[in-house]
Amino acid sequence: MKRFPVKLSVMAALLFVLLMLPTAVSALDSQVDLYVDGKLVARNYNARLIEDKPYISQSFLNQELSVLTVWDDKSQTLALERGKYKAQFVLNERYAIMQGETVRIDAPPIVLSNEIYLPADAVSKAMALKMTWDVVKHALLLYIPVGDWTPPSSPSSPSSPSPAEPSSPATDTGSGGGQSGMPAANPGGSRDGVESAGGSTGGMSAIGSIQIVGDQVVIKADGAIQANTFTLTDPNRIVIDIPNSKLGTILNGEPSQLNGQITSTHPHIQRIRYALFSDNPSQVRLVVDLNQAVQYSLVPSNDPNQIILNISSKSYVVVLDAGHGGKDPGAIAYSGAYEKDYTLSLTTKIYQLLLEEPFIKPVLTRSDDTFIELDERAAIANRIDADLFLSIHGNTYIPSVSGTETYYYSSASKYFADVVHQHVVEATGFRDRGVRQQDYKVLRLANMPATLVEVGYISNKEQEELLYDSNFQDKIARAIVNAIKQYLQL
Ligand SMILES: [Zn+2]
Repeated sequence: MKRFPVKLSVMAALLFVLLMLPTAVSALDSQVDLYVDGKLVARNYNARLIEDKPYISQSFLNQELSVLTVWDDKSQTLALERGKYKAQFVLNERYAIMQGETVRIDAPPIVLSNEIYLPADAVSKAMALKMTWDVVKHALLLYIPVGDWTPPSSPSSPSSPSPAEPSSPATDTGSGGGQSGMPAANPGGSRDGVESAGGSTGGMSAIGSIQIVGDQVVIKADGAIQANTFTLTDPNRIVIDIPNSKLGTILNGEPSQLNGQITSTHPHIQRIRYALFSDNPSQVRLVVDLNQAVQYSLVPSNDPNQIILNISSKSYVVVLDAGHGGKDPGAIAYSGAYEKDYTLSLTTKIYQLLLEEPFIKPVLTRSDDTFIELDERAAIANRIDADLFLSIHGNTYIPSVSGTETYYYSSASKYFADVVHQHVVEATGFRDRGVRQQDYKVLRLANMPATLVEVGYISNKEQEELLYDSNFQDKIARAIVNAIKQYLQL
């Protein structure tokens, strides 16, 4: 089992956020010119062609079409209003409410580069605008009917996002608990990266080669390149944005096209599509179409002109050990309850959550009230060559003592213990009694990184109440799952 440098956990956390991206973002999209009443009003980013359908941005609606927009984070709904015309669009959903009626739309609203984009034809219909899509000019022509409505004097309702801070449900993603269901910013929109890349190199790098070599996607250019990556599901794909890049005149030894694809014989990669995603600033986008969900990581390279993406579909076996059981009740809680019951309940919750993880195979040492010897618990993990071993316990001492302690034996287990401890302490809010090295048999005999967490003191009245509470156990279970995923960089 390799050990992971601590700094990579930041990347793992970032990846976790990125995995929360809405699923509907098209792999390849391109820019569209926008005309309102015959005048070219926008060329950059306000409109995009996504899966062959024209989309317009929320800020464009606000600024150029005088449509009021109000984003509701909870329902993920964007309400539009232009005079008497009202509509609601739900992020990633293929229906909208127009003048009170639910209408199917054939393209869902999505988040792209920190902005909400709406399908232009549905918006036109909802807001009674006239729209023409010019295929040849790649232009969207919008006409505001004359005299049907004049903009109100108050610019927008208080909860409407200001044009300066366009829409951005994504702005909330940074707040710790806000990850669930939150559409994250398109990391292509991690503009800092884009700008620093531009600033340092000053030039544009031409991509001359995109290849699949073993389990790696290798991209080579004639100058320094960097990648912003994120994943999309349904179907599974990895998007690689390369800021400040263009396609070379020769790609993989052939004259290059504006877009195209690389065929694949890799079991997990269907193909790689590429295109010039934007020409101001110039950015190439690659989409790795996958046959299944995979893990991937950017491999640090000595060659700045090269990007290497590692693909893997390894899954990890995690053994979960509910302390005590059967004839061994473990510690007796303040109220007289048995430790073995709390450990089984909490461990089962962790197990259930891990079953949902595509790259983790959880295994229980016991799933009921059975007695198992300590050496057998470790042996179960050793026999199946598990990647991690985690034992769950509750501590006991005099009633006034409380807090979380996490144990490890081998130094190879220290980092795993640290990560678990940090997450458990944060979730419980219990006193941090530290990560400690101890010669516990179950830890000593396990051949893989192993840790034992005494989540709290069941001999303490307040902590017992929390530790036996189902909702509180859910919280601990989620924290432990997050710790395992962080450790495994999932
Ligand atoms: Zn115990």
